[in-house]
Amino acid sequence: MTGGGPVNDEPAPRSSLMRQVRRQDTGPEWVVRRALHAAGLRYRLHDRRLPGTPDIVLPKYRCVVRVQGCFWHGHDCAHGRVRSKTRSAFWDAKIAANRARDARQAEALAALGWQVETVWECELRAPQWPAALVERIRSRAPGPRP
Ligand SMILES: [Zn+2]
Repeated sequence: MTGGGPVNDEPAPRSSLMRQVRRQDTGPEWVVRRALHAAGLRYRLHDRRLPGTPDIVLPKYRCVVRVQGCFWHGHDCAHGRVRSKTRSAFWDAKIAANRARDARQAEALAALGWQVETVWECELRAPQWPAALVERIRSRAPGPRP
């Protein structure tokens, strides 16, 4: 499903780029996963049994962690509110569709007893974010089970 086509076939040595080639192992989501792991929280990835196939699932806390880009998911922050002549009606519609899907997914998960913890990209700029995220997750019901 990923890469392999002549268009993406770069002449650079590919073996050293494998981590970058796999999109899920880069960027904000990877940073969040590393922080959860470092805190001793165990998660599953891309759980197809749950609505929307959430990227990060913490079964012990019945919690789903979503890492969302501020612009594309319409966060109420400087990055999410950005307006420019390059922001077309098409983008506005796409962002609105993303937000609607996010809300539907959260509702479907809640109906099954799962909670959603959203991590916005802008939050990752604050040095204390990993501790804050771990605290938010740990404070969630039902909490650790034996
Ligand atoms: Zn934001």
